[in-house]
Amino acid sequence: MKNITVIGSGTMGNGIAHVFAQFGYNVSLVDINDKALEKAMATIGKNLDRQIAKGALTEAEKEATLKNITTYTQLSDGAKHADLVVEAASENVNVKLGIFKQLDEICPANTILATNTSSISITQIAAVTRRPDKVIGMHFMNPVPVMKLIEVIRGYSTSNEVCNLIMETSKKLKKVPVEVNDYPGFVANKILMPMINEAIITLYEGVAGVEEIDTVMKLGMAHPMGPLQLADFIGLDVCLNIMRVLQDGFGNPKYAPCPLLVNMVTAGHLGVKSGKGFYDYSTGSKELVPADRFKKNNSPVLA
Ligand code: NAD
Repeated sequence: MKNITVIGSGTMGNGIAHVFAQFGYNVSLVDINDKALEKAMATIGKNLDRQIAKGALTEAEKEATLKNITTYTQLSDGAKHADLVVEAASENVNVKLGIFKQLDEICPANTILATNTSSISITQIAAVTRRPDKVIGMHFMNPVPVMKLIEVIRGYSTSNEVCNLIMETSKKLKKVPVEVNDYPGFVANKILMPMINEAIITLYEGVAGVEEIDTVMKLGMAHPMGPLQLADFIGLDVCLNIMRVLQDGFGNPKYAPCPLLVNMVTAGHLGVKSGKGFYDYSTGSKELVPADRFKKNNSPVLA
């Protein structure tokens, strides 16, 4: 494996391109938006500088990494020589099915098609191709250059050979791959999202405030960040979508999203990216939000 195509150059795509390029792969980074590609290359440059400042990389290695990445706006140009494609486009099932149908036409028959989806079924994506044995989940964690884990998700038809190859490739990136099966939320989000949802229910029921809940989980469970702050970082819309995937996929009411989460997303309070969530980021720092906005019995209608 030498030629890697990364599709989508947003939060995850730029990190995935960075890591493959750093370990000597030829990376074609594809995005429909050329501004996103420009931003991604600038972000990769900044993140490489950070590694240099920590003594983890030399200036020459930074230059070599950047040289290994070529950007494209056309999928047909960026994917035609790929040995492995890692798709990290927006989390929308129709977008992903469309991309995989195209990839199946564009790429050589032996190209492995991986997706970085957080929640969409690998088996469903594989089913739109004529090579379901070569479709697999490669779920990197954010921020990609820092986080060690790759959740490797076997679709219903993924072959052993492809799974082994992706496990080996992940190790070449100095990551720790963990093999899991294709069920809603895989492992990471099947456990993380109900925990975040339970933290929101705890807040909504008035058991404790935002800071208290986050402090209990940080100091009591040694989590680096409390669940409500983490939800703000992930994006409350993303958290809600994943809860819906779990609820629909398992048909179990224990996965029902907290009504407060639904209200906040409806009101556009999405966390860090919108400036307001469980904390207020609109002044540039992390501030507390008045507690009554979160309570079940006296929560005002969020506008
Ligand atoms: P993002 O919104 O930051 O970036 C998505 C990029 O995809 C955008 O630049 C967009 O222009 C591009 N895009 C959309 N349609 C495209 C197409 N047809 N062809 C090429 N490019 C296209 O999203 P993200 O947060 O980087 O998430 C990407 C994927 O990674 C999603 O599947 C998401 O579930 C998954 N993921 C995200 C995180 C996270 O913390 N953000 C963590 C793990 C996995």
